[in-house]
Formats: sequence, C-alpha cells, structure tokens
Amino acid sequence: METDTRMHDEIQSLSTKRLMGKVAVITGGARGIGAATAKLFAQNGAYVVIADLLDELGANLADSIGGRYIHCDVSKEADVESAIKLALTWKGGLDIMFNNAGIGDAGGSITNLDMDQVKYLVSINVYGNLHGMKYAAQAMIKGGRKGGCIICTSSSAALMGGLGGHAYTLSKEAILGMMRSAACELGVHGIRVNCVSPHGVPSEMLVSAYRKFLGRMDVNLEEISKIIGERASLLPGRCGSTEDVAHAVLYLASENAEYITGHNLVLDGGYTSASSNMS
Ligand code: NAD
Repeated sequence: METDTRMHDEIQSLSTKRLMGKVAVITGGARGIGAATAKLFAQNGAYVVIADLLDELGANLADSIGGRYIHCDVSKEADVESAIKLALTWKGGLDIMFNNAGIGDAGGSITNLDMDQVKYLVSINVYGNLHGMKYAAQAMIKGGRKGGCIICTSSSAALMGGLGGHAYTLSKEAILGMMRSAACELGVHGIRVNCVSPHGVPSEMLVSAYRKFLGRMDVNLEEISKIIGERASLLPGRCGSTEDVAHAVLYLASENAEYITGHNLVLDGGYTSASSNMS
C-alpha cells in the first residue's frame, strides 16, 4: 500500500513536470513576469538561463532555482548571442526562448515625441525581441533537438489604442508582426513562435506607469492591483498576476501546445474584448 502511494506520487510528480529536461532562456527574468516564469519553469523541470541587467536580483534568483544568470542588455545583439551560447555550453541545446525583457514609455503627446526616447525604447522592445528570435532560431535549427519554441511578449497596448505611450504601442504591435513572420518561416523546422499579451499585471513597470498616470508618487502595488481589478478587468475585483502570465507561457512552451504557432495569447481578464475602454 505504501509502495503504491509512493509510486503514485512519483508518477504524479513526473507527469506534472511539463518541461522536464528542457533548456530555456528568459530575458528580463530577474523580476516581474520573467521571474515568475523562471520559477514556474524550474518547478516544471526546466533548466533556466536568466538574462537581465539586474545582476544581483537575477543571480540570486538563478541560484535559488538551480539555473544560470548572465548580464545581458537585449538591445545589444552580442549580449543576446552570449546568453544563448551560455545555454548551449551549459546544457547542450536550447528548447525554449522567452523574449520577455521590455521597458515602458514615458507617454506624452504625439506632437511632442522625443525621438531619442522612441529609438531607445525600440532598441530594447523591438530589437531585443528580434535578437532573441534570431539567435534562438539559429540554435534550435542547428542544435538537432526536436522542435523548439519561441515566445515573445507583446501587450494589450498592441490591441487597443490609448493603453501605452505611442512608442510602447509601436513596439508591441511590431512584436506581433515579427512573431507571425517568424512563425511562417520556422514552422518547417518544427519551431513554434507565439506571443503573450498581458494587460494590467502589477509589476515594477506598471507601478511606475500608474504613478505617472495618476500623478501620485506614493501609490503602491496593492492600490494599483485594486484599481485594475475595479476598472480594467471583466472579472470584478480580479486583476492579473505575474503567475497568470507565467502559466500561459508554460502552456505555450509545453507539449500540450504542440499545434499552436503564430498565435497571440491575450491575458487581460477580458478587458480588450469590452466594447469600450473601462479605465
Ligand atoms: P518589470 O519591469 O518588472 O520587468 C522587466 C524586466 O526586464 C526587468 O527585470 C528588467 O531589468 C528587464 N529589462 C529591461 N530592459 C532590459 C534590457 N535592455 N535588457 C535585458 N533586460 C532588461 O516588468 P514586467 O511587467 O514584468 O514586464 C515584462 C514584459 O511584459 C515587458 O516586455 C512588458 O512590456 C510586458 N508587459 C507587461 C504588462 C504589465 O501589465 N506588467 C502588460 C503588457 C506587457
């Protein structure tokens, strides 16, 4: 009886580890959505490389999940190439690339755009994703492992006007186009390319956006979660969490999503399906 229970538990724990032995690179994995995904991936048996600018946070998290950390500015092509190389030298291949690193937008009128700021944001949000796609696809095609999966991070701001600054919106729309374009080319190699589009997930990025939006520097994560739950979700009182996004990314990365490519999975509590902007 005891043996039965132990065997059942062992089978259960193996079958619930949906990424057993898979190798993943997560950009922007030191905090927020990337960190939640790194933890969930590791819990599901994946080897995770965290690539970020926040060295202390990233290295501590990598240590705690048996992963690796590398300093990486995704706007620099060579940095992203090095992050992929680390995965290859560490575990001999790459199965999953999560292009998650991104920055928000200071906002402001289109009549007054600071083009240097726009170019800076594009260098991270757009080129950062493109660098990730390029080197992940190279590694997956050459690596000789079965398939591969690239997940990019767009936003509800790509689906509705007025949700991010102009540069942010431009960058997130561009990511959707790049994802579809890459999915068309890479399907023949068995590589799937998809996007997640979160909306209103409390994180450092959202706190700073809401502080500017509300004109209040003292507003905290808890208050922001409440505001989103009240105004920006079709599920009263419920706002999204970094874990909600992590679970969606886990699904897209897993074998359960083997027939899904070229898809944008929207994580917004139904918000962008509403006929009017509620906030
Ligand atoms: P966050 O600020 O908590 O995390 C972003 C991470 O990216 C940080 O660890 C940061 O250090 C890293 N990063 C920033 N610039 C980088 C660079 N040049 N190179 C490498 N790493 C860099 O924010 P988050 O909410 O977790 O955002 C993660 C992603 O989700 C972003 O692409 C963001 O646009 C997207 N997103 C977030 C929301 C939301 O509501 N939080 C909504 C839609 C989309």
